[in-house]
Amino acid sequence: MTTVGRPYLPNRKKLEGYLDQVYESQWLTNNGPLVRELEERLGDYLGVDNLLLVANGTLALEVALRTFGISGEAVSTPFTFVATSAAIRNEGLGVRYADIDPETLNLDPAKVESACGPDTQALVPVHVYGNPCDVEGFDELARRKGLKTVYDAAHALGVNYDGHSVLRWGDAATLSLHATKLFHTGEGGAVVFRRAEDHERARRLINFGLEAVDGSIPDVGMNAKMSEFHAAVGLAMLDDLPAILEHRKAVGEAYERELDDWVSFPAWSKRGTRNGAYAPILLETPSVRDKVKAVLQSEDVIARSYFSPSLDETAAYRAGNFFPESQAKALRTLCLPINTGMDFNDVKKISLCIKRAINQERE
Ligand SMILES: *Cc1c(COP(=O)(O)O)cnc(C)c1O
Repeated sequence: MTTVGRPYLPNRKKLEGYLDQVYESQWLTNNGPLVRELEERLGDYLGVDNLLLVANGTLALEVALRTFGISGEAVSTPFTFVATSAAIRNEGLGVRYADIDPETLNLDPAKVESACGPDTQALVPVHVYGNPCDVEGFDELARRKGLKTVYDAAHALGVNYDGHSVLRWGDAATLSLHATKLFHTGEGGAVVFRRAEDHERARRLINFGLEAVDGSIPDVGMNAKMSEFHAAVGLAMLDDLPAILEHRKAVGEAYERELDDWVSFPAWSKRGTRNGAYAPILLETPSVRDKVKAVLQSEDVIARSYFSPSLDETAAYRAGNFFPESQAKALRTLCLPINTGMDFNDVKKISLCIKRAINQERE
C-alpha cells in the first residue's frame, strides 16, 4: 500500500546506540543530554538560533503564544490542520479567520488586516504545504499594529526563503516532529524564537514554569518537555535528513511533470526552496477530486484531502463568517503519497491512475 505520511524509521543500530546512552545515563527526561544534543544539531542544520524542543507541534504553538503573554484573539487560517486553531483556543484565545489567497492557499496580509479586531494581539499564519507565506507583508502588518507573529511552520522544516531558513521569520515559528512529518521524533515539536530572552522564558514554561536556579515560579507553566527516547529517534534520523529532503523534492517535482496538463498546483513562492513535505494537487471540481481519491484507493493508494473541511465549517470552530476560497479549495485539494519508499515508477503509476480517473469523470 502506498500512502501519504508513511513514517520513516531510522536505522535501528544507530537508534540502539542512542538508547544505550539513555540506559547508561539513566536520564529519561527533563532537558537531558540527548534533547540538548538534538536541539544543538537540528538548530545548526537548519541555520537557526534559539530552538527549543517540545513534546509535540500543538504544544509548540501553545508555548509560543504563552511566552508572548497573548490574550484576546489571534487571526489564523481556516485552511490548515485543526491543530493550529486548537492550540490558539487551548491558550484561552479566540480565533478569527481570514480567507486564503486562491493561488498560494496561504493567508493574505491584506485580508488578515481586515479580519483584525480590537482584541487581536497575534497572527498565526501557516506555511501551508511548506510554501512560505508573504512573510514581509505579515512583518509589516505586525509592526504597524503592534501584534506578535507566530508561524505554524509544521510543514516547512528545511525550507529556505531568500537563502535562509523560513523559520527565522516571525517572533516565533513552530515545527511538528510527529511521525508523519518529514523529520520526526515519533511525537515531538520545536519552537524557534527570534529573541534569546523569549527562548529562555519558554524553557521555563515547558517545565511547569519553574525557575531552575532558585525553584521560584514566576510563570504559569505547562509540561511540554521532550523525553530522551524521543530525542533518540530524532538523532538517529538526523544524518538521513539531507537525503530525505532531496528525495522528496525530486518526487514532488516528478508528480508536477507527470500531471502538469491535468491538474493545478498551489503557486509556490519563487523565493522559497521546496522540501517535498506534501504533494498537493487541485482538481477541477469536487466530484473529480472524490473520483480521483476513490480510484486511487481501489489501487491501494491512499491520498488525503488535506485540508478538509475548511475549519470555519466545523462544529468546533464555526466562525459565523463565510470563507469562500478556503471552503472551495478544501473540496478540490488532494495530497498524493510522498515518502522515502517511493521511486519515479510509483509516481508514474499513480499519475496514470489519476489521469484515468479524470478521463472517466469527464466522459
Ligand atoms: C502536524 C501539524 C500540527 C500538529 O503537530 P503535532 O505534532 O501533531 O501536534 C500543527 N499544524 C500543522 C499545520 C500540522 O500539519
